Amino acid sequence: MAAKPKVAFYWCASCGGCEEAVVDLNETILTVVDAVDIVLWPVAMDFKKHDVEAMPDQSIAVAFINGAVRMSEQEEWVHLLRRKAQTVVAFGSCAHLGGIPGLANLNTRREVFDTCYADVPSLQNPAATRPQGTSVQDHLTLTLPEFFDTVKALDQVVGVDYYLPGCAPPADLIWGAIQAILAGTLPPKGAVLSPNKAACDVCPRKDSKPERLEIAEVKRVATHIADPDTCFLAQGFVCMGPATRGGCGSRCVEGNMPCRGCFGPMDEVSDQGAKFLSAFASVLAPKDEAGIDRLLDQVPDPTGTFYRFSLPTSLLRRRRIGVPV
Ligand code: SF4
Ligand code: SF4
Repeated sequence: MAAKPKVAFYWCASCGGCEEAVVDLNETILTVVDAVDIVLWPVAMDFKKHDVEAMPDQSIAVAFINGAVRMSEQEEWVHLLRRKAQTVVAFGSCAHLGGIPGLANLNTRREVFDTCYADVPSLQNPAATRPQGTSVQDHLTLTLPEFFDTVKALDQVVGVDYYLPGCAPPADLIWGAIQAILAGTLPPKGAVLSPNKAACDVCPRKDSKPERLEIAEVKRVATHIADPDTCFLAQGFVCMGPATRGGCGSRCVEGNMPCRGCFGPMDEVSDQGAKFLSAFASVLAPKDEAGIDRLLDQVPDPTGTFYRFSLPTSLLRRRRIGVPV
């Protein structure tokens, strides 16, 4: 019997939702387990780093890696998996674009540590202890992975062959990718494994989006209830659909939430936030500076709104170190 293809799953800086997404395959996971030999899946199975190091280079058919790269340990792992795997798939928004962890690029490591180990109101840290790269206790030396200043998407650290978008990728896209891998029918390398169509083009509310939009007031789901049948942008809610790749099944819109942009941009767009901002600015009703400022003040977190998933891979990448917030 021919050996089954070896598959690895690994997570870097992520919330665990991408691991849940694999479990969301439900009983299909039994078909996957039957068809492949899982050689690494830290969330579910006890493999050690030295097990992977002992494998011949290129002996893993596919490594699915989720999460952004924030720590030196993650950097070591992704280099190791790149060496051992024939195909590397960036799995989910954080590996694809930097994701939510990438918003930490608005701060430096020092500022992150100040918040976590000094400023949090519920914190008890009278000795002002901070994580150290190396510390000695009872004659034993303890080393911790380095916490980098800048969060990176996977392809900013190692070469990536394919991208499975989404926070988290939906089960049908994951299963489609696994079937294409097994059948050897993957598209050319570098492809995002979801149709290159805007979320608006496949949105159930697209017919209620007027030809000519005009936004006189920016609304938020925290303060306004959205009509469940009308295009969010037409109602004044920021909806990233015009600048976001479709393929998620309009999950948020179906739940009466605007699209936040987790599938990232379409192939021809290099900066999702700038693409959306350009479209958004063109439909603001006020044309005078004071009126435009009033509307922009109604978006309290512009970076977290327009670059929620894509800051590390945008043209901005991060706040310049040394420049105050
Ligand atoms: S802006 Fe949002 S709600 Fe309107 S059509 Fe596009 S994705 Fe749908
Ligand atoms: S609607 Fe937008 S934010 Fe929601 S899952 Fe789809 S692409 Fe992601």
